[in-house]
Amino acid sequence: MTGADTEEDALIRQLVDLAHPAGRDATFAAAIVRTGRVVSIETNAVLTSVDPTAHAEVQAIRTACRRLSTLDLTGATLYTSCEPCLMCLGAIAWAGITDVAYVDGIETATEFGVFELFPEGSYHAELLPVRLRKLAASDAHR
Ligand SMILES: [Zn+2]
Repeated sequence: MTGADTEEDALIRQLVDLAHPAGRDATFAAAIVRTGRVVSIETNAVLTSVDPTAHAEVQAIRTACRRLSTLDLTGATLYTSCEPCLMCLGAIAWAGITDVAYVDGIETATEFGVFELFPEGSYHAELLPVRLRKLAASDAHR
């Protein structure tokens, strides 16, 4: 295992821990890594900020763009605890991110009372210039 793999594993464990704190089921976490450095790591803030767009991925993009003073996150990887919804995929594409790694499939969000807006079969993520890869369970869960 390389050093990079170890850092990725640690980041994924951190996301899973952030996403599933005791007593807070509907929490998701996302991080953006660019040139080997974690630029942002955020959880969703939909309820606390009363903002339906404050998903973890969007929060991570906002923070990364502010910190780097850019609208262009080309070359970055977005890690997320749950497969992104279409709104987040749009934001990811707008930010120039083409590499996304996620832990749980979007269907698991329904376990937390979060529903997907689009019925099965209409989730056409392949139309966006974003490569989605599901992390192996052994990578994500201890
Ligand atoms: Zn989303």
